[in-house]
Amino acid sequence: MNLIPVNQPLLNGNERKYLNECLDTGWISSEGPFVKKFEALFAQKVDRKYGIAVCNGSAALEAALQVLDFERGAEIILPSFTIISCLSAIVRAGCTPVFVDSVPVTWNMDCNQIEKKITSKTKAIMVVHIYGLPTDMDHVLRLSAKYNLKIIEDAAEGHGLNYKNKPVGSFGDISTFSFYSNKHVTTGEGGMVLTNDANLAGRLYSIRNLCFQPAQRFVHEELGYNFRMTNIQAAIGVAQVEQLDNFIKKKKEMGKYYISQLENIEQIQLPQVSTDYAENIFWVFGILIKNNCPFSAKEIMSSLRELGIDTRPFFYPLHLQPALRKLNIKSDESLPVAENLAEKGFYIPSGLGLSLEQMEIVCKRVKQVFE
Ligand SMILES: *Cc1c(COP(=O)(O)O)cnc(C)c1O
Repeated sequence: MNLIPVNQPLLNGNERKYLNECLDTGWISSEGPFVKKFEALFAQKVDRKYGIAVCNGSAALEAALQVLDFERGAEIILPSFTIISCLSAIVRAGCTPVFVDSVPVTWNMDCNQIEKKITSKTKAIMVVHIYGLPTDMDHVLRLSAKYNLKIIEDAAEGHGLNYKNKPVGSFGDISTFSFYSNKHVTTGEGGMVLTNDANLAGRLYSIRNLCFQPAQRFVHEELGYNFRMTNIQAAIGVAQVEQLDNFIKKKKEMGKYYISQLENIEQIQLPQVSTDYAENIFWVFGILIKNNCPFSAKEIMSSLRELGIDTRPFFYPLHLQPALRKLNIKSDESLPVAENLAEKGFYIPSGLGLSLEQMEIVCKRVKQVFE
């Protein structure tokens, strides 16, 4: 049976034309003209002065943490319910992660729990916008001002997402995006770091390029990485950004369609279409199994797979990651919402390339497994 994939990108704009330009001109490395074009175009979309394209979203987080120069042992507050990249970047920068639980309805960091975790060592809050809805930024901005904390904004899932009519990725001292193939703007693999601070931007360009120096190329004042994005990736990125407004429109329609078809299933909790401050862009369409359901998420996912529907589990909470033990990072607390999300959550096919016909089949199968 043909499995309906959990993600299919949509690549039917100018991608092919721009890729041919790369091949025809021979510009396939990071030196080609699409990289700057992509940086400028995307920075403009996110309302930022500088965009520094890198090879993926995880690298974007690592570069962001390096350039902020936190002292060793500085504490950074972040949601437990997110991808491992957030934790890796913090730990590799010599900082200590401090985890916060999520809001049961939006699955984003519960900002009411941040303040009690702030200590004299706290230097930053890492905000991560989850699955298509944003974190409550006013709350984060208030705490950042009150305690003089930097904000790192991981907007990897938030292309085209607004918080109170302002694009996410425009709030942090530094914000980061991913362009992996399941994100709303994709370059296959890719990422970007964005900031309004000229100093940070200058250092970020340098860090992504091994900290080569203009005057004495092979003399290095700092250690960087080769995090460069190729012209080939950026060519696809430019074509994708051109279509972002349409992509968002389509994603919102897809989310609403799924909700209209699945909202009568009593054993599941679906994403909210909107909150007080945002409209959901449904990065993925998540489903949370309620306590009254006799099946586990694993069982539902494997039944769906047998019926030709691919799914993915939700994130596994960072505070329970086995890797923490090796690092001697204390994580004995309980964060029940994040734990419940990990245990009971999964997402169904949500890619931009999904057809209405495929979505109809997905809905039929989901209804079937809960009957
Ligand atoms: C996808 C994602 C990343 C990592 O991006 P890659 O390009 O896959 O390295 C980081 N943070 C969040 C929240 C993501 O969803």
